Amino acid sequence: MTSKIATVKDGGEDGKVVKKQRLTLKERSRLGSSGVVILVGKRLDSKYLIHESILTKTSLFFRSAMKKEWKEGEEKIVRFNDVSSETFDLYQCWLYTNAVYTSERDPSGTSFYSFLINAYLFGDRILDHPFKDIMMDTFSQKMEENSKIPVSLTYSIYYGTAPSSPLRRIMVDKCTYSDFSESLDRQTADDLPKDFLMGLVRSLSKKTWGRLPGIPPWDSNSNCYYHSHGTEFPCYKTLDWGEPTSDCRLVNSSM
Ligand SMILES: [Zn+2]
Repeated sequence: MTSKIATVKDGGEDGKVVKKQRLTLKERSRLGSSGVVILVGKRLDSKYLIHESILTKTSLFFRSAMKKEWKEGEEKIVRFNDVSSETFDLYQCWLYTNAVYTSERDPSGTSFYSFLINAYLFGDRILDHPFKDIMMDTFSQKMEENSKIPVSLTYSIYYGTAPSSPLRRIMVDKCTYSDFSESLDRQTADDLPKDFLMGLVRSLSKKTWGRLPGIPPWDSNSNCYYHSHGTEFPCYKTLDWGEPTSDCRLVNSSM
């Protein structure tokens, strides 16, 4: 049986632009029928049901967790009692739509930045490079738009990340190349992690003595400068989300 054909106009003048929506069975995404329950919240009272093929698409943690030898893989249930439903809502939407949905109510407020950082830290924990990288780009973009650096959140960042984390790096870089004195006025030395202060002093000293370029690193380097995919994984910007990955096919074919 071949797929049904549907062709729709896609907003072009006089219907000149027509979006192709007829696809072959070979081109379809294979979601499969296996689902995984994700429980989040302090009491694990927020429940999500995600296709296993979607859940294991980009997260190395979920790929491992779904192996039969793991309890989670046997039960098809994964629990996160220290992750909020707000964070997982964002991740779930991203998994299915490849889009990040954020509230614009207070896009320059600390709680908004905290929301982005928590999402990034969750991506770090589940080893999902594409999700981390899109959250990093959102975080960076918001700081640029608002001309505001959430210095008060450096403890959350430094507490939740490894020394080599791009999230630590971007905070030091943004503070090196921007006037963040206003944000700093509201902090005491005890409010800021020592590693952050040391990194910042080192960076500012290099900048003062001309050992850093005049152009900020986010402008002078590739778009992947703060991404964590490295050379091992493709950038999320180049992923073809219409097609399941080879690993996705393997998961589906075993069902
Ligand atoms: Zn990249």
